[in-house]
Amino acid sequence: MTTDEAKKEIDEMSRLLRRYQYEYYVLSRPSVSDAEYDRLFDRLVSLEKEYPALAAIDSPSLRVGSDLSADFPEVRHAIPVLSLDKATTHAQVLEWMQKLQGQTQDPISFVCEQKIDGASIVLTYERGILARAVTRGNGEVGNDVTSNVKTIMSVPLSLPRPVDVTVRGEIFLPRELFDKINEGEVTPYANPRNLASGTLRRVKSSEVARVPLDIFVYEGFFRKPPATHLEIIEELVRLEFKVNPRLGYFSPSGDFESERTLLPQTVAGRPEDVPAFIEKTTRERDSLPYEIDGLVFKVNEIGERDKLGYTGHHPRWAVAYKFDAPHGVAKVLAVDVQVGRTGRITPVARISPVVIAGSTVSNVTLHNQEYIDLLELAVGDSVAVSKRGDVIPAVERVLEKNEEGYKTWLLPAECPGCGSPLEKIGAHYFCRNPECEEKLRGELRFFCARDQMDIENLGGETLDALFENKIVRYVEDIYAFDVDALLDLPGFGEKKVALIRDGIEKSKAKPFRTVLSSLGVPELGKKAAELLVNGGYTDIDRIIDLADKKDPAPLLEIKGIGEKLAAQIIDAFADKKMRRRIAALKKHGLRFAAAPDERRPELPAVFRDQVWCVTGSFESFKPRDLAMEEVKKRGGTVVSSVSSKTTHLLAGEGAGSKLEKAKHLGVKVVSEKEFLALM
Ligand code: NAD
Repeated sequence: MTTDEAKKEIDEMSRLLRRYQYEYYVLSRPSVSDAEYDRLFDRLVSLEKEYPALAAIDSPSLRVGSDLSADFPEVRHAIPVLSLDKATTHAQVLEWMQKLQGQTQDPISFVCEQKIDGASIVLTYERGILARAVTRGNGEVGNDVTSNVKTIMSVPLSLPRPVDVTVRGEIFLPRELFDKINEGEVTPYANPRNLASGTLRRVKSSEVARVPLDIFVYEGFFRKPPATHLEIIEELVRLEFKVNPRLGYFSPSGDFESERTLLPQTVAGRPEDVPAFIEKTTRERDSLPYEIDGLVFKVNEIGERDKLGYTGHHPRWAVAYKFDAPHGVAKVLAVDVQVGRTGRITPVARISPVVIAGSTVSNVTLHNQEYIDLLELAVGDSVAVSKRGDVIPAVERVLEKNEEGYKTWLLPAECPGCGSPLEKIGAHYFCRNPECEEKLRGELRFFCARDQMDIENLGGETLDALFENKIVRYVEDIYAFDVDALLDLPGFGEKKVALIRDGIEKSKAKPFRTVLSSLGVPELGKKAAELLVNGGYTDIDRIIDLADKKDPAPLLEIKGIGEKLAAQIIDAFADKKMRRRIAALKKHGLRFAAAPDERRPELPAVFRDQVWCVTGSFESFKPRDLAMEEVKKRGGTVVSSVSSKTTHLLAGEGAGSKLEKAKHLGVKVVSEKEFLALM
């Protein structure tokens, strides 16, 4: 490689890594897998090693990626929050352990923790009270997100002792809650990590409180630090921080002192037991209630840590073993073009079937032409396919070019559905023909889908049959066609036809907000429909009235509705075709006004699995039982007296014996202000 070529590659790698860092840390919406990011990062590091004169002073390889946001004040970290050095094989971890042992006089031991895949946070307690919660930011300076973090139930607002301590931890979203919460997102997130870190950066704490985030704390910086990491972890447990108990401890003797009763789940062994421990965790990974992306091995002795010190990028006393991202190799057989219901054109690679993380992948979205150009992908190429965020299949890179001489694939100039010329908007091409049959089919599928009108037995194939037989063309036709006539079609028996009729009838009872989000207005998804209804737009006529006046201003007064969405709503409901659709659907009995109880959204179950008791008097809850009603509405249980089963006591003015008892039993005592924040 010539120096010029190396410079070109370094520049390109740096440009890509900066972009990926921004997407990952700031937008919480990465566009490549971690494995691909790590591959580029390693390539840049090795090129810079080979050509040190070409390494820029602001190279992304030297910096911790930054998640700083302009929405929150900046705070300088007392101790920089760095990245971790990486290992991807058992041998690399063992070599690292041996290397460190070779550099120290006394025998050293190692603690292994699960690497939680969430968002990093630094919590500072002053005399036992949470004073500040700061994101990692660029490692030197982070964002103050204290009010958001205060809404997280497992973050203690006060400690049992008035200590000054700074702790580090990872904020995450339990796996089982991810799908449920993600459903309500206008643009869903790829995985729980992205949703957790995106949530933490919301400007409104009330929106953060709706997502039941959780925390594991893994480092503590005390005025007088204990001698070992294990002792620090034990002290954190005593201070009632939520600590991940699934630890490994590896020392030359392989023993784990029996009196360590605070950490009973710790697996102990010698360094040679590390590969088996990694294997075991890898097997258990999918059954954990939270996501981990690796393991972190740390020197246990704090004195040795101090001697080993830091590079500008990571501490020398820790290494992260990263799990392999599920991936496979496949051949691109063809690239098809899909036309979405909004007319958006999406190229999709048909690949030779490959099993990744337990499921067979044969279609992979290629997003748009820019993505294809970046990959330089052609039909016949061998490609590396991963599951991004372990879920969404993605082509990561071309491994081998095709021998047939196919060039980088190009989108056609016309819509494959109707032949209309395509129009480029942003990164995507669109078909603008309102009568494009591919778009119409997409609209029908969307309207009937499970999370929209949920019309049972009107799935993709049935809708295609109805469309092809010219029985249904537009959404409103679903309620107008003669269902019995289906009996004349092949494959439609009495039973199936009866089920279709039932499904259509049942869907008429769907609430207004579901009807609203099923109409297919771009950006007007479930969450936006809920905002409209709760914002007082409980009747379609009120929305139509604004559309007639072309006045988005009243919509902008609703928290959560921005200019883009407001403009989309005004445009969509001013459209003649939409108005005809609404009139027809109304005639068929669909709900275009909210029932009186529809305005209240389903509340997030922030008090689930908790047992609450109340004592004293309150400003906002008179009588105080109203507070307990709020607990019940959010999934909690309410009791009238404090016992060892009680998890929280809401204590107001003049609290008496219940408060004493709660303190005695170690029940968490919550003030009215804290309670309001939690709600
Ligand atoms: P890292 O992988 O270097 O790990 C450091 C982080 O691990 C800490 O800040 C902490 O938040 C977390 N952590 C979780 N459990 C921990 C524990 N028990 N002890 C210590 N730390 C723990 O993180 P990084 O520097 O933020 O990012 C580098 C990694 O992020 C890359 O290797 C890549 O996988 C991913 N990344 C991906 C993209 C992308 O576009 N896909 C972009 C940037 C970064």
